[in-house]
Amino acid sequence: MHLRTFRKGIHPPGNKEKTSSLPVEILPLPKQVVLPLSQHIGAPSEPLVSVGEQVMTGQKIAEAKGMVSVPLHASISGKVVAIEPRPHASGKLVPAIVIESDGTDQISPELASGYNLEQLSADQIKDLIRQAGLVGMGGAAFPTHVKYFPPKGKQIEYVILNGAECEPYLTCDHRLMVERTDEIILGLLAFMKAANAEKGMIGVEVNKPDAISALTKAVEGLPIEIIPLQVKYPQGEEKMLIYAATRRVVPAGALPIEAGVVVNNVATAAALGGYLKNGRPLYSRVITVTGNGIKHPKNVEVRLGTLVEDVINYSGGFDGTPGRIILGGPMTGPAQYRLDIPIMKGTSGILVQTRAEVEKLEYAPCVRCGKCVDACPYNLLPNYLGTFAEFDKLAEAEKYGILDCRECGSCTYICPSRRPLIQLIKNAKSKITASKKKTG
Ligand code: SF4
Ligand code: SF4
Repeated sequence: MHLRTFRKGIHPPGNKEKTSSLPVEILPLPKQVVLPLSQHIGAPSEPLVSVGEQVMTGQKIAEAKGMVSVPLHASISGKVVAIEPRPHASGKLVPAIVIESDGTDQISPELASGYNLEQLSADQIKDLIRQAGLVGMGGAAFPTHVKYFPPKGKQIEYVILNGAECEPYLTCDHRLMVERTDEIILGLLAFMKAANAEKGMIGVEVNKPDAISALTKAVEGLPIEIIPLQVKYPQGEEKMLIYAATRRVVPAGALPIEAGVVVNNVATAAALGGYLKNGRPLYSRVITVTGNGIKHPKNVEVRLGTLVEDVINYSGGFDGTPGRIILGGPMTGPAQYRLDIPIMKGTSGILVQTRAEVEKLEYAPCVRCGKCVDACPYNLLPNYLGTFAEFDKLAEAEKYGILDCRECGSCTYICPSRRPLIQLIKNAKSKITASKKKTG
């Protein structure tokens, strides 16, 4: 089998065996959900409900504000008990709608029972993508509909689904590709129709042979190609995936549309397929709960707004004393310091590392080995960027292309001195962005 890939990259251990063959379980209804108004890149949504109001599952409870924004839906039925700042994965307090469950999970009558793709126009599909509240579910949380409004003169030729799931530990996309294959294909066909694209592709790393086989069977006779990818990190990063699939290069600082491509995650396609099939907008998602610090690792479908604590309890609780809790995968996911934060649209997993694993991660000075330079898929010099960032030399960092860093974490992973390169780089990037905003 010919395996496509990109240049450079790293080979961290996959650590997926704990959960890769475990079917998705459904988390019992939580007693309460906390739904932040900011679950995506762009403007937070605006509440449509007030404290004390009864809401039903799937009901729109906050409206999109502006083009780069999406609506938010109730993930359980019950009473709105608060609209106030609550802890968020970003570490800040963020306005959220809090719903207490009435235990009935009554579905809102405002929802349609489904949509027939053949009868929908491209514009209607784009509107449905937005109405479903879809954002990039691989972690980016960028409002999905925006990608389907290309700038004037640009045409989307290919829609590529990212089924690489190259982040170690995570297996939720793998399980979706095996268990919800039809929804993914329906979602992809809808994306292609919205874009008027000639071809669809799904890139999957070859460590998921059952997913490749299920998808290959499902696309027979359709203009969709399944692309087996080499197992390498960050294979699922947008520009790496585009290169592997099409051999097209997206220039530094440019968007995939420059290469005539739009990329969505397989989970986002499954959510759209599900919405077309049963009319249910995005109010739940599948995540992976895993790591040596979790008693019973699993893949589980949770209602959005469920607290991390509730999911950990459902997974048997901690195995020993946790050293670090990460939302998402170990390469890009942010570490968390509390358990009362909610699962959001872009949350792909909960990884709990043990104290012993974390203690191994103490760092030392740079030994100038150049391994980070060899690993960076964006041809940056992470050793320099880390040093500039450390000493607040922001102008130099910018000159060396720090804003082109996609925060994939490969440099941090490969560094024998365990330098916290990605944290230093992220920190410097936000300082540069903030100062640019200030100076207009
Ligand atoms: S510098 Fe940025 S893009 Fe390059 S390896 Fe490090 S985190 Fe990834
Ligand atoms: S990998 Fe680490 S030690 Fe080696 S050059 Fe890069 S920052 Fe320095």
